[in-house]
Amino acid sequence: MDNLMQPFSLRVSEVIDHAARYHPNRKIISRNIEGPITETSWIKIHHNSKRLSKALIKLGIRKGDRIGVMAWNTARHLEIWYGVPGSGAVNHTLNPRLFSKQLSFIINHAEDKFLIIDNDMLPIIEKILPHCKTVEKVIVISNKEQIPKSVIPDLICYEEILKEQDGDFDWIRGDEKDACGICYTSGTTGNPKGVVYTHRSNVLHAMTSASPDMLNLSSRDRVMPVVPLFHANGWSIGYTAPLVGASMVMPGKDMTPEALYEMLEKGVTVTAAVPTIWLLLLNYLKANQLKLSTLQRVIIGGSSCPRAVIETFQKDFGVQVLHAWGMTEMSPLGTICSFKPEILELNEKDRISIQETTGHPPFSVELKITDDDGNKLPNDGKTQGKLWSRGAAVVQKYLKTEQETVDKFGWFDTGDVATIDKNGYMRITDRSKDIIKSGGEWISSIDLENAAVGHPEIVEAAAIGIKHPKWDERPILVVVSKKNSKISKEEIFEFMKSYVAKWQIPDDIIFVDEIPHTATGKISKIDLRKILEEKHYVHPDLD
Ligand code: ADP
Repeated sequence: MDNLMQPFSLRVSEVIDHAARYHPNRKIISRNIEGPITETSWIKIHHNSKRLSKALIKLGIRKGDRIGVMAWNTARHLEIWYGVPGSGAVNHTLNPRLFSKQLSFIINHAEDKFLIIDNDMLPIIEKILPHCKTVEKVIVISNKEQIPKSVIPDLICYEEILKEQDGDFDWIRGDEKDACGICYTSGTTGNPKGVVYTHRSNVLHAMTSASPDMLNLSSRDRVMPVVPLFHANGWSIGYTAPLVGASMVMPGKDMTPEALYEMLEKGVTVTAAVPTIWLLLLNYLKANQLKLSTLQRVIIGGSSCPRAVIETFQKDFGVQVLHAWGMTEMSPLGTICSFKPEILELNEKDRISIQETTGHPPFSVELKITDDDGNKLPNDGKTQGKLWSRGAAVVQKYLKTEQETVDKFGWFDTGDVATIDKNGYMRITDRSKDIIKSGGEWISSIDLENAAVGHPEIVEAAAIGIKHPKWDERPILVVVSKKNSKISKEEIFEFMKSYVAKWQIPDDIIFVDEIPHTATGKISKIDLRKILEEKHYVHPDLD
């Protein structure tokens, strides 16, 4: 039979059109880079993104061109989020925390034609621009008066080019499978790899992410993405919020607990970030005896969320934790820990244990675990295996590579090790390169870290495997304790015994002032190993 339905195109421009049409006056509150907190709305963002698309075309952007965007979470960034793809260009998000060499590598690799940057990013761009061969123009997201002096000639002022345009513009149309955005993985091993999202993958992903068992977003919510839009497709919140017509709070660049608290108290109902942000915020709230007056849900992902964080949010602040797992390669959502009916039946303690898993996948994501030979392993909640995924918004090939990143059945090797239980709840036990192999058994470094940070005097912990003559590898723990804490190794060993099996207890503990992090705020085990090597650290049995 013929297809008799309309050929609606899943392009992201439809998302912002919808928000402007049906949720025009929903508030978008934003802390600007210049300082003041401003208010705008979806209709105004829609208007400005159309003006930006028009301006970009006038400046020479053509369909398929790449534009690198290095900006914090502000309302103007939302205008760019839609203005760039609306002009037919591809929005390449740039993480300012990457090393200069990595930044120029990815700008050259993606062949960015323009850069659009916040004014405080100028020093970074000034340094790398001579090495960026394809960049023709740099646009600074600011008013004319607030653009700092720069060695870059002919800087373009964002507000000026917008001023010249009316909003009378038809989005550049095209196939829903056209490229829409690029995000590079953080490149902890080798050069960063480019993941290219299509309009279709972004829209499908946003539709499933927003659904009740996932981010559970609606027009009644006010969402604050603390996770930057440049980290893993901004966890899709730049698409999901307008898709459901939610209001937003954009926190800008100030990530201190004081600043985040101020923004959370502007009526935020849902927020999202990595665990370290929340550890700091919870300490701040407790120290100052503060309450969260409107927050209902917090999405925590990017690395494993410690049980203590889940308990404190839920028991002390009445905020539900949604523990999530995802990857840049998956747009990024893979799973969220919302409660299926089977979990609601459990007592609170067991429910919190379930929340330590990262939950179950949305529609269109499929997961499986296998042994090293690719044989499928059981979903019994105990057996650990290599985690594979496939779905509508999962990478097929990295940018400019010949080889597909998936096997012949479309499965993508996530590089994670996990268990899956009978209800489909997945628990990341480690990244395959970080798992500690001791006497033929696997010890999860994440389990050890989470057990340690449950101690009130421990701020952060990192477990790594160290060469051992008898056991192949044994775990050791690197710990940052609270200021002025006198906690001893023995006390930590004793504390951990209640959470992990005796043979998994680390063989040694090293106290440090700081643990190195990656550009996306995760513990950098590569750098940690380097530091230990430089200190000629060996297992105590070899000493
Ligand atoms: P990057 O490594 O560049 O920060 P991603 O954000 O794509 O890039 O990282 C994805 C990885 O982060 C996953 O493969 C997994 O190892 C880890 N991760 C994400 N969420 C969780 C979680 N809730 N628990 C444990 N690990 C997680």
